[in-house]
Amino acid sequence: MSEDPTRIGVIIVAAGAGERLGRGMPKALVQCAGRTLLEHALDGVLAAGVAGHVRVVVPAGDTELRSIVEAHTHPQLTLTAVDGGASRPASVRAGLDALPGGVEIVLVHDAARALTPPQVFRAVVSAVRDGAVAVVPGIAVSDTIKVVTGNTVTATPDRTTLRAIQTPQGFDAATLRTAHEASVDHAAVTDDAMLVESLGIPVTVAQGDPLAFKVTTPNDLMLAEALVRQAHETAGEQQ
Ligand code: C5P
Repeated sequence: MSEDPTRIGVIIVAAGAGERLGRGMPKALVQCAGRTLLEHALDGVLAAGVAGHVRVVVPAGDTELRSIVEAHTHPQLTLTAVDGGASRPASVRAGLDALPGGVEIVLVHDAARALTPPQVFRAVVSAVRDGAVAVVPGIAVSDTIKVVTGNTVTATPDRTTLRAIQTPQGFDAATLRTAHEASVDHAAVTDDAMLVESLGIPVTVAQGDPLAFKVTTPNDLMLAEALVRQAHETAGEQQ
């Protein structure tokens, strides 16, 4: 796999409505310590410096997120906004269609995982370059997780075998395209790796990071704000 960043593309999916956050606007537009979640997510992608092409998938018809993307011009990469679809997989496909043909590695990243540290991007890219066709960042879970049908517990998987899976998820570009072409849109398709898994292709786990948590609820947003403020204070003290 290529070391050349022009062969690597990142799709940031930011076309969700953000209903669980309850702010009445797309989640990526919500402010977190003075900047939108999308700007924080873009900072992480640009700081990682792994990709030559970034496509941000925004709600169809949106102008505000588009203008944030357009303000983020960068000399070393192509960065554009793309209209998303009604489901996350449809939004990912819109991003895939907008990447140049020469891209060999694609990372798919949730804008909602706005504080994902650059080393997670690098760990995922490095695992794909080392030969894995699909890579997901994962962290151990601290809760006991049960399988529930109706309101009855039907199984308790061994916690040591479980990982909470984050983004960016990294793929050989051709494999990701094939997995999306073979899939049927369904609310249960919550990440891209599961489409690859359904083809019987192995998915490798790389080291994730607690900071790559998905901002979903008001509590998550409070945590993200506290973390950004703390990082600013630490940076101020070091100057
Ligand atoms: O809803 P969920 O938490 O799974 O969303 C994960 C990510 O997918 C979010 O960053 C959201 O903006 C994005 N998404 C999208 N298009 C949709 C639905 C979700 O880009 N139609």
